[in-house]
Amino acid sequence: MKLILFGPPGSGKGTQASLLAKKNKIPHLSTGDILRFKLKQDDNFAKELSQIISGGNLVPDSIINPIVADKLLSDECNNGFILDGYPRNKYQSDFLINFLEKNNLDIDLIIDFLADTTTVKKRILERSKIENRSDDTVDVIKTRLDKYFSETQPLAAMFKAKFKDKFFEINASQEITKIQYDIENRLKNA
Ligand code: AMP
Repeated sequence: MKLILFGPPGSGKGTQASLLAKKNKIPHLSTGDILRFKLKQDDNFAKELSQIISGGNLVPDSIINPIVADKLLSDECNNGFILDGYPRNKYQSDFLINFLEKNNLDIDLIIDFLADTTTVKKRILERSKIENRSDDTVDVIKTRLDKYFSETQPLAAMFKAKFKDKFFEINASQEITKIQYDIENRLKNA
């Protein structure tokens, strides 16, 4: 099963991706998690990444595109994958669509998590008490949401037009269990 998830930070797509990954035994490819893992290395690259991420800005496409391409081609993804947090801008989206076509990878479903700004801000601030992420502060959340609505959300519209009935919009303001239930129902017909 090959899935792509869209949705603003705090919309709960990471939570649903983990649940789906466990249940379907496929990897959860969160570009945010992959990059945060790289921050643990104590080198100049990690310092550079750390500055970008803590400011809420996007890591350059020249860094993220090959990371995703390598992952998608690895044995880990033989039975599918869940892409969470990628693509984030037009360049990444063009790269991904081209890559999928070139490698004959058919996407089963794209899930767009729809949630209003007030809900997602509240959720991120709640999460910040537990996870201690450098980018979960009020100012940085604003930058991340601005980036999402200006650069990423327009891609969802483009994917909706391209993938038609493989594009599923979910009301992400609902309870976690209800979102999970709605997604599982939709996947039965994917
Ligand atoms: P996330 O966990 O998805 O909210 O991502 C956390 C941060 O990692 C983002 O604010 C960006 O700085 C960086 N990041 C994650 N995914 C991408 C991506 N596809 N392109 C560029 N930067 C990314």
